[in-house]
Amino acid sequence: MIKGLRSLSTLLTPKVNSGEWIRESIQGIRGLLPAAGGQCIACLEPDAHFGLCAPCREDLPVNHWHCRCCALPLAFAGDETLCGQCLQAPPPFSRVIAPWRYRFPVDGMIQRYKYNGQRAFARPLINDFADHLIAVLEADPELRPDLLVASPMHPARRRRRGFNQAADIAEQISKRSAIPWTTDLVTRSRQTRPQRGLNREQRLANLRGIYQVTAIPPARVAIVDDVVTTGATARRLAEVLQIAGATDVQVWALARTPG
Ligand SMILES: [Zn+2]
Ligand SMILES: [Zn+2]
Repeated sequence: MIKGLRSLSTLLTPKVNSGEWIRESIQGIRGLLPAAGGQCIACLEPDAHFGLCAPCREDLPVNHWHCRCCALPLAFAGDETLCGQCLQAPPPFSRVIAPWRYRFPVDGMIQRYKYNGQRAFARPLINDFADHLIAVLEADPELRPDLLVASPMHPARRRRRGFNQAADIAEQISKRSAIPWTTDLVTRSRQTRPQRGLNREQRLANLRGIYQVTAIPPARVAIVDDVVTTGATARRLAEVLQIAGATDVQVWALARTPG
């Protein structure tokens, strides 16, 4: 029932640097109404809840077994397991919360959202992510951050893409959780090569010195992003926030790649 999305995701052609996302996002926004009903984006079944029907939602690749710190997907069960990377070089963040694995159909949904501006594709993920976070915070209120920090995007890239998906996700989580959010606390000073296609060391080098913290952060912050890939961005951001005074930095993302 999710085959429809597979064929859609193979049609994906990034449309950055074109005005086409505007038309598409207007269509996407129209597709958002009514908020809790409409057609399933994966199988076109008419009875969907926030864009996905129940069977397609059940098929989403939940990140069940993962490193308890960086949420790296693991092939075996174990709530207290740390991956080799976190054991060797403990990251500056305390935990990554990423409920899905970045693979079909979540990868295609996020790509259409991020590169084509089709927000309807992220709507079920963001809605369910907010539900998940609220449940996590109810179970453990000490995890509640004082502020959500949207992972910053260089202004030129933001102009080309038309929106910063991390800010979009942070805003929607903020609405549901009443945790304030910001895009101003950390700025990105220069453009880097896109992180896609680089290995972990190349990504860290690519990011060196690009983040500036503009004010003293509160003690507890959560960086919000769409995907945690190698964790290089999360490490750099968490590091600058800690240097600026944050004592606990979490990372909240929709999905985590295998490495
Ligand atoms: Zn469906
Ligand atoms: Zn780890």
